[in-house]
Amino acid sequence: MTVPIDSIDNPSPAHGFGTLAVHAGSPHDPTTGAVIEPISLSTTYEQTAVGKPVGQYEYSRSSNPNRDNFEKAVAALENAKYALAFGSGSAATATILQSLAQGSHVISVSDVYGGTHRYFTRVAKAHGVTVTFTPQIEVDIAEHIRENTKLVWIESPSNPTLRLVDIRSVAEAAHARGVAVVVDNTFLSPYIQNPLEHGADIVVHSVTKYINGHSDVVMGLAAFNSDELRERLAFLQNAGGAVPSAFDCWLAHRGVKTLHLRVKQSSINATAVAEALEASPYVVAVHYPGLDSHPHRHIALRQHRDGMGGGMLSFRIKGGRAAAERFCQLTRIYTLAESLGGIESLCELPSAMTHAGIPRDQREAVGVFDDLVRISSGIEEPEDLVHDVEQALERAVRETTAATDATPHMSNGNGVTNGHAA
Ligand SMILES: *Cc1c(COP(=O)(O)O)cnc(C)c1O
Repeated sequence: MTVPIDSIDNPSPAHGFGTLAVHAGSPHDPTTGAVIEPISLSTTYEQTAVGKPVGQYEYSRSSNPNRDNFEKAVAALENAKYALAFGSGSAATATILQSLAQGSHVISVSDVYGGTHRYFTRVAKAHGVTVTFTPQIEVDIAEHIRENTKLVWIESPSNPTLRLVDIRSVAEAAHARGVAVVVDNTFLSPYIQNPLEHGADIVVHSVTKYINGHSDVVMGLAAFNSDELRERLAFLQNAGGAVPSAFDCWLAHRGVKTLHLRVKQSSINATAVAEALEASPYVVAVHYPGLDSHPHRHIALRQHRDGMGGGMLSFRIKGGRAAAERFCQLTRIYTLAESLGGIESLCELPSAMTHAGIPRDQREAVGVFDDLVRISSGIEEPEDLVHDVEQALERAVRETTAATDATPHMSNGNGVTNGHAA
């Protein structure tokens, strides 16, 4: 069956992911024939009579062509009926939490994104919404559900230790008690995982990461199928006003058209690096769901496209905090920086950067030790990345081990000795 190309800005399940990424929400301009949509910066739209706008738009916060087109594109890629874009991933999270009635209860996985944890513990409470965190949601979700529980919040894979959650099993337990399920799908992107197909009710993204993919836009998005949710969240999108600019929507839409190519390469690169790390004498442990040694590999095979592991991984280096820090300085291709999901490879130290706000005991309970390095794989050549990691590992461990040998009682500055560094 062939579908005329003119009609495919309206998505159809007959098309594959790459075709939808390029064409969904991308109509040709009807007046000029422009193949790429114009950036529509106008904040307001003419009306021919009171309440009779020329087209479908009135005021840009409420809706505008670039945001509509971008939302349509990502909705198609998540197999969702609707998507709503927000000024950041955090704004998407905040809006979903704001949609809950006062006195509501939320259950969340323990190792959620730091900003999500901050919102749950320091903002939601002020609005009368309480959150219970659990490190093993598949096991104890039923025990945590109360009469006022409205939402379950999942991140899979988790950040930065890449643990997976079986979305379907959590969704079944939640739905049995009338509780909705949100999945933050930022780490995998819609190319690798579509949470709505595994029973989730809402999927959220920090568009800032893979969807835009070029580290030049901050944006968020929520996608879902329910008409009732669409009404409630679109009302809050407009009333709260945490909306992205038309220009950013145009940029993110441009980014999403190559999502499948970028994420595929990032996953190939992460796999090559994870295998090299696993074989290295300088590494204590590797966390990557694309490896057969990953404890949740069976979930990845069921939940991820072709069992792909995605572009994110983390590992523990021998030599403690000092070696981890040195590693991040010694890489030549990887840039030491927070964030992820861009075309360029990045590395960072969660214990001192993205997760520094979490008390040590809580952090270490979920595996975030001082020697953990997180890597976001870009789309460079895999051989170059493997080579870069290997040279940085060797030098980082050699330099810091030599220092430790010279002064056997030296600690890494955090009260943890690393005399076992070799
Ligand atoms: C970055 C990130 C967020 C927050 O998104 P912003 O766009 O930075 O507000 C939420 N969840 C995850 C998993 C993230 O990586």
